[in-house]
Amino acid sequence: MSKITDEIKKRRTFAIISHPDAGKTTLTEKFLLYGGAINQAGSVKGKATAKHAVSDWMEIEKERGISVTSSVLQFNYGGYCINILDTPGHQDFSEDTYRTLMAADSAVMVIDASKGVEAQTRKLFKVCVMRHIPIFTFINKMDREAMDTFELLDDIEKELGIATCPVNWPIGSGKAFRGVYDRNEEEIELFFDTKKGTTTGEVKKIRLDDPDVDSYMDPDQKEQLLGEIELLDGASAEFDQDLVDKGELSPVFFGSALTNFGVETFLQHFLKMTTSPLPRHSDKGDIDPMTEKDFSAFVFKIQANMNKAHRDRIAFMRICSGEFDAGMDAFHIQGGKKVRLSQPQQMMASERKMIEKAYGGDIIGIFDPGIFSIGDTITTSPEKFAYEGIPTFAPEHFARVRQVDTMKRKQFIKGINQIAQEGAIQIFQEFNTGMEEIIVGVVGVLQFDVLKYRLKNEYGVDIILETLPYEHIRWIENEEIDMDRLTGTSDMKKIKDLKERPLLLFVHEWSIRMTLERNEGLKLSEFGRS
Ligand code: GDP
Repeated sequence: MSKITDEIKKRRTFAIISHPDAGKTTLTEKFLLYGGAINQAGSVKGKATAKHAVSDWMEIEKERGISVTSSVLQFNYGGYCINILDTPGHQDFSEDTYRTLMAADSAVMVIDASKGVEAQTRKLFKVCVMRHIPIFTFINKMDREAMDTFELLDDIEKELGIATCPVNWPIGSGKAFRGVYDRNEEEIELFFDTKKGTTTGEVKKIRLDDPDVDSYMDPDQKEQLLGEIELLDGASAEFDQDLVDKGELSPVFFGSALTNFGVETFLQHFLKMTTSPLPRHSDKGDIDPMTEKDFSAFVFKIQANMNKAHRDRIAFMRICSGEFDAGMDAFHIQGGKKVRLSQPQQMMASERKMIEKAYGGDIIGIFDPGIFSIGDTITTSPEKFAYEGIPTFAPEHFARVRQVDTMKRKQFIKGINQIAQEGAIQIFQEFNTGMEEIIVGVVGVLQFDVLKYRLKNEYGVDIILETLPYEHIRWIENEEIDMDRLTGTSDMKKIKDLKERPLLLFVHEWSIRMTLERNEGLKLSEFGRS
């Protein structure tokens, strides 16, 4: 038992969230470099190498040179075993991106210092808030002209509604970037633009009261720094680990991932401030990895058709407690059956490898003969508990779908239901009619292509997609509400899901508020129950 808890205590499992181009890939790569998992920057999938990256599992991925799947990177550093969950950005943004956050214990938010909070960060941040997980901020690209530091913090606080606590403070930016001042140590880590590819570059620290400081920065820069420190000490939130744990206070760090500056400092602080795997809610109360000795895990993502010939799937699961052994038997709660967990795999940089053992906090991919659904629990515990389900996230693109050949109705319904069950798309119906009209909702538009491609290749069905103008969906929380009497805006549409639960679609965001105003007592939610 103690070996298992020791292993779990070492685990740090987090997701990196950011807007495309903020520097997530570069930062991840530098982390791996420090962990010795790769020995040269440029090994992790980047734009240039994306074509050969993680997956050539689906033709569509190959055609577009992008990866539809997200991966997990594991490496060791300073006695910790670190799992980084990649959240796909760019065009491959999908519901999986959100679901990945359900498997993380904390999140690192990378922000471009010249841009502040951007759209995709905002979306992913909402999911972190819903989960109350710790959120750390790395403000990147300080070697470029940046926004005013106070303005940046203000932007985070206002846009995201989280308090910030700068652990270090930048001295200048762009050509005038001199380094960061560590508020706790009261020393400056000096910036040299020489560390790009390796971890061996020069790291020089100097105390603020050292007379030599003047040879590293202009007098007015120093004066500005002293002024800002004073202002900060008086005005900014104090570091409070409790608030960090609850996700109410974000420790902020500054650096430049590209030049390797501030990355190791961030990693060291972050590992101390973030948590090892925490208890998770189940229908039998919280399951604590420090006391629960049996293996338990939940499925947060299903990757279909990695091998076209076999129509097989991989179920990605987050281990929450205990030890995993390759080929072990465990009970699949939702299926009500014992299953063998075979062909376990893990991602390592851009390769998949088979693994023998894994522990609470780790992510593994298991061969799925088509039995698992998102949110399912697998455990060896005689208690047979089920972890809390994964919510359904709001799609942002909608289309009406019809099959070209009406004789293929059966295959069409089977295929579209199967793909929805895997969580790639969500399907809805008109509120007052039956299954003839199917409305599909997706988080990322690429999923429409995935749907089209898979229906044709796996089920032999051609479809026509007619895109709809709606961009916002809300689940109705108080289901007893009389839908016929509900009065909305002219751009609103009533629909229902396959479980007959009512939902509303809107073209404009402001219509949501108007609809709420017009219908007293109406409760709308951005997350659906699965
Ligand atoms: P991602 O889309 O968030 O994964 O961003 P990338 O890591 O691919 O970075 C986007 C672009 O910004 C690339 O051209 C990087 O080389 C560049 N970049 C990343 N970090 C820095 C940095 O600290 N400074 C500068 N100047 N450029 C950076």
